[in-house]
Amino acid sequence: MSTPVAVSGLHLIRAIARPHLRTLLLGLALALAGSATSLATPMVTKWILDSLGASASLAGPITALAVLLVVGAAIWICEWILLGTLGERVVRSARESMVRRFLRATVPGITRRSPGELVARVTSDTVLLREAVASSLVGLANGVVMLVGTLVLMAVLDLVLLATTVAAVIVVVVLFAVLMPAIATAQERAQEHLGRLGGVLETALRAIRTVKASRAEERQAAGILAHADASMRHSVRAVRREAVAWTISWAGIQTAIILILGVGAWRVGAGLLEVSTLIAFLLYAFGLMEPIMELSQNLTALQAGIAAARRIAQVEQLEQEDTGSAQPGTTAPQGATGAVLELRDVVAAYGPEQAPAVDGVDLVVPARGHTAIVGPSGAGKSTLFALLLRFLEPRRGEILLAGRPYREQTPDEVRARLAYLEQETPVVPGTVRDNLRFTHPDASEDELRAALERVRLLDVVSALDGGLDAPLSSSSLSGGQRQRIALARALVRTPDVLLLDEATAQVDGLTEAAVHDAIREQARLGAVVTVAHRLSTVVDADMIVVMEDGRVRARGRHEELLASDELYRGLVEALRIGPQLAPAG
Ligand code: ADP
Repeated sequence: MSTPVAVSGLHLIRAIARPHLRTLLLGLALALAGSATSLATPMVTKWILDSLGASASLAGPITALAVLLVVGAAIWICEWILLGTLGERVVRSARESMVRRFLRATVPGITRRSPGELVARVTSDTVLLREAVASSLVGLANGVVMLVGTLVLMAVLDLVLLATTVAAVIVVVVLFAVLMPAIATAQERAQEHLGRLGGVLETALRAIRTVKASRAEERQAAGILAHADASMRHSVRAVRREAVAWTISWAGIQTAIILILGVGAWRVGAGLLEVSTLIAFLLYAFGLMEPIMELSQNLTALQAGIAAARRIAQVEQLEQEDTGSAQPGTTAPQGATGAVLELRDVVAAYGPEQAPAVDGVDLVVPARGHTAIVGPSGAGKSTLFALLLRFLEPRRGEILLAGRPYREQTPDEVRARLAYLEQETPVVPGTVRDNLRFTHPDASEDELRAALERVRLLDVVSALDGGLDAPLSSSSLSGGQRQRIALARALVRTPDVLLLDEATAQVDGLTEAAVHDAIREQARLGAVVTVAHRLSTVVDADMIVVMEDGRVRARGRHEELLASDELYRGLVEALRIGPQLAPAG
């Protein structure tokens, strides 16, 4: 179920910051204390100068200055470490939440988005979040206090000089208020294009062989770099505006300082102002840029963080698989038919507006035996598997596993009784052992060996450098042998149902024979359902289901269907001359 996340600004950041409120408040207290030491420094400087003029002892003010320095430094380091650690925690927990959600999302939900984009959310957007949550909130509060504090202390020193400063400060603040939103928008666009760049780059790299074979390197690069260009364009726009804002501010403050000097010198000359006051005032004026800088930088970071939080919230809305406890069933387990799987008038589609990919299918898979599904491309065979594996929920109808409806069980419960062999990417990264243990991490050495034996790979694997611990990526196993490793993985603990989407690619005779025998043996122990692409697999099946346009068109054994079904005859003919070398049957 998706969590309703209202997609709007600050409250997303607030929600992320809430669990860390105490740390943030402590950070703010430290920041304010640090600022207080900076604010006090010009006043102590004035004290030293006054003491000099009055020939009084300098011990007091100099000690105060030293204490301010040490305390300020200690506060600074504490604040830095505290907020830095908090930032990393925020990144960590955002990453955890996203990674878990991605892996728990429904298959259609996750495959609709580009993996590169999802990766960018976890790797780069979380970093933007860190700045926004850890430093911006504290920085903004501190910046405001610092600015107000500086102005107040200036007022205490001299109101006339303050008037000249305030004009400059107002100009600077207004300038930032006008330019900041545009800067933030430009930065946000730049980041968006960066995400898209990640998406298309990932797709291109995945298809690198096709890209090269089609001599499309240049065209692909141009397409991908268009996003880099767009990102740069927006970033440059942001930089230009920032440069303008900063330069004008700097010039404004410098002008104010010159004015302060001029007006101050005149007032000192007229005996209206002490030199020490003028110096202290100038020190404040020089420091004025700091809170303004802090405010603007943190505003930018906060806006970038809000944009990142929005993108994160969007992917967090990915529809999740229902992992909650399912309703206990009232149906008696294992129907009288002895069927392990049963589909009753199942209709399924890939979207509310899309035509059904599986349309009114009734199917009974007996607890023992081999059921082969055949049909032309687009007939709905993969969709049927997606339904059985619960990657897709039916729009209508019911699927039962051992007599219990799917909806009374969690996806986990259903999948625990199934083993699935994908057509493509049959191996996972890691060693042979990692692959074999992928479904059952607690499988014993004997179980692994038995599974290898069943696909006739035990000798081959034992001869590998490292045996079961040989990494599959660099080992000398052929494509066919890798497929058998994947099959062995599915056979490690005899599943109730083995769902096997047969590879369409040509395999060696040894692999074909091993797979064939393994299927036959498995069919004696449990149910095997194959999406069959080899004649030998089809011929051998106890029942063949012919699908067309999402419906079951015919069912029966090979000879019956050969005699009765025209489509089947055509399919068999294609298999005979297709990937098949030696016609079987
Ligand atoms: P088969 O495996 O028999 O080739 P599929 O089950 O893949 O057939 O496809 C059945 C129908 O569903 C086809 O019309 C196909 O276009 C459609 N389809 C398959 N996968 C998707 C998807 N992810 N999104 C939308 N439509 C899909």
